[in-house]
Amino acid sequence: MTVYSRLIQNVAGVRHGFGDAATLLPVPLQPWLDTAPVKKQVHGIDIRRVYRPAEPCGEADGLITSTPGILLHVLTADCLPILFCRRDGKSIGVVHAGWRGLLAGIVEAFAAQLAYPDGPANWVAAIGPSAGPCCYEVSESLVEDFLQQLAIPANIVRPRPLHLDLAAIARHKLQALGFQGVDVLRQCTICGTAAGGHRYTSYRRFCRQRAIDPAYPSISGRNQHSGLVITG
Ligand SMILES: [Zn+2]
Repeated sequence: MTVYSRLIQNVAGVRHGFGDAATLLPVPLQPWLDTAPVKKQVHGIDIRRVYRPAEPCGEADGLITSTPGILLHVLTADCLPILFCRRDGKSIGVVHAGWRGLLAGIVEAFAAQLAYPDGPANWVAAIGPSAGPCCYEVSESLVEDFLQQLAIPANIVRPRPLHLDLAAIARHKLQALGFQGVDVLRQCTICGTAAGGHRYTSYRRFCRQRAIDPAYPSISGRNQHSGLVITG
């Protein structure tokens, strides 16, 4: 079942949704699939401004537009999908952020696109389902990298030993950058289950299963899509 952000739902003239394994692209966004820019996500920090439907954008992990009728979306399978929306519904953006992107500054790169007299204070952000702190075990050196970079308490970055809370890190960055509202949907792609099995496609879970059974099917084409479009 697609999940939605209350914060973005309150903005008139914008449709959005976070997909899952059952409905990869949320139903409200499906009519716009052909308008989505063509991009390759590379865990980088490049944000592209989009002006035309189906525009080729090369390698990009973030998109921004003020043009109605263009679907901006990202594919994820443990990384964070972050949807952005101007409070008046006139501009939207989307970011794909895993630990690499967060550490390299993709959230800051997106905020830098919102030049004066616009700025994060006119925008809201919603952080979708991702690998949760319940399951996202990482190396000690990666935890250290985040702790050294961020001026936020260690128990927020790493609520359990060797477990990162990607969503909490992103939320703190967004709040520090001055975004007017930040919604966190708090669903774990690794352990979250639905009636029919696992609710989300998870890269981490796939790797574990593949280690046990090398014939386990690839997740290619099964990433969930999260995005939004200006309809107004
Ligand atoms: Zn979990």
